Amino acid sequence: LAKSEGGNLHRFFHSGMTDRISRSTRLEMELRNAIEREELQLYYQPKVRLDSGQMVGVEALLRWPHPQEGMISPNEFIPLAEATGLIVELGDLVLRLACRQLAAWRDQGLELNVAVNVSVKQLLRATLHLRIDELLQQYQIPSHLLQVEITENNAMLNLDHISQQLQQLRDMGIRVAIDDFGTGHSSLATLKELPVDYLKIDKSFVLKATVDEEDAMVVKTIIGLGHLMHKQVVAEGVETREHADLLQALGCEQGQGYYFARPVPAEQIIQMWNQPVAIGSQPGCLPLSSA
Ligand code: C2E
Ligand code: MG
Ligand code: MG
Ligand code: MG
Repeated sequence: LAKSEGGNLHRFFHSGMTDRISRSTRLEMELRNAIEREELQLYYQPKVRLDSGQMVGVEALLRWPHPQEGMISPNEFIPLAEATGLIVELGDLVLRLACRQLAAWRDQGLELNVAVNVSVKQLLRATLHLRIDELLQQYQIPSHLLQVEITENNAMLNLDHISQQLQQLRDMGIRVAIDDFGTGHSSLATLKELPVDYLKIDKSFVLKATVDEEDAMVVKTIIGLGHLMHKQVVAEGVETREHADLLQALGCEQGQGYYFARPVPAEQIIQMWNQPVAIGSQPGCLPLSSA
């Protein structure tokens, strides 16, 4: 009897649902192992000045080369890591890898800003600034070379606490950016409260700004708002020359996107730096300056 019940149960659950559950349970276990073995990697994507094409820094973006499934996108495993609490260990790995790379680049004579995405769950630990301080000392990195990006939506959930934590980072000399700006629910009042140096416009607006007038207005408004609050504005999702031109015309300081470069392994950043696209242009200049 028990056996047949089990059989029924099996049939009952043997649907897309169990597949999804077991996949995420399996991925969680595998992610835990991958973190322990440091099998995740950081790719780096340049941020450039829109007036000159000069690379001013890079954003570190996680990649998980999975033995069976190939590269798994952070859009899939970051939410999983957030939901399971693994994000704290994963976030620490990201900080270690980024600081290691920063130090390696400095040894090679390249002083690049590195921006790291930080989860609210990491910030709410309240010891993040101490951990970062420890790593900066261990790798002898000046704090102004490290940036922290935090997504707008998450920052608003716990505004007082988050503001306090971000201010602690800024007091250490670390620059803070608010990421995916425009997709969240911040009001002008809350934005004013957040101690940040940069606004990053979400790519969804940038991508449509050259074809949709309303999106262009949103982008223009965010840039104006940012400047009003004495922040620099960075646009993500710059895929075309038209995007770059429009953003520059609207006064946006920095851009990041496939037009300049995709996220790449660290070695390729050095190559990009040493081989500017235009003959005679400055080291670290990306396509903008060639036109
Ligand atoms: P994000 O921080 O907003 O990063 C920008 C995303 O846009 C990256 O996706 C990047 O590859 C992509 N992108 C860059 N330029 C273009 C472009 O021109 N066009 C288009 N369509 N996309 C572009 P990615 O690497 O898949 O990362 C997705 C998200 O995962 C990130 O969004 C970030 O929220 C999260 N993430 C990545 N690495 C980390 C990490 O180390 N820690 C945490 N907490 N989150 C991370
Ligand atoms: Mg980011
Ligand atoms: Mg972003
Ligand atoms: Mg984004």
